[in-house]
Amino acid sequence: MAYLFIKFLIIYDRMLFVKRDLILLAGVFLLMLGLLPFLAPIYAVIIAIGIFFGIKLFVKNRQKFLEKQIGEGFCAECGEKVINKKCPNCDKTDNSV
Ligand SMILES: [Zn+2]
Repeated sequence: MAYLFIKFLIIYDRMLFVKRDLILLAGVFLLMLGLLPFLAPIYAVIIAIGIFFGIKLFVKNRQKFLEKQIGEGFCAECGEKVINKKCPNCDKTDNSV
C-alpha cells in the first residue's frame, strides 16, 4: 500500500511538472508572437528559446537550493536549521568552546 502511495505521489509530481512546463512554453510562445512585429522571426525564436531554458535553469537551481535548505530539517527544540545532524544552538558539544 505504501509503495503504491509513493508511486502515485511520484507520478502526480511528474504530471505537475509537465503541466508547469506547458504553461511556461505557452508563455514563451506568446512572448515570441509579441516580438515578431519588432524582430526578424529568427531572433524572436532565439530569444524565446533562450528565455525558456533560462527560466528552466533558474527553477532547477532554485529547487536544488530549497532542497539544500530544508535537506537536513530543523531542530525540534529551537527551530534552528540542522547542520551535520546537529543543531548549532542545542547540540553544542564539549569540544566546541
Ligand atoms: Zn536547537
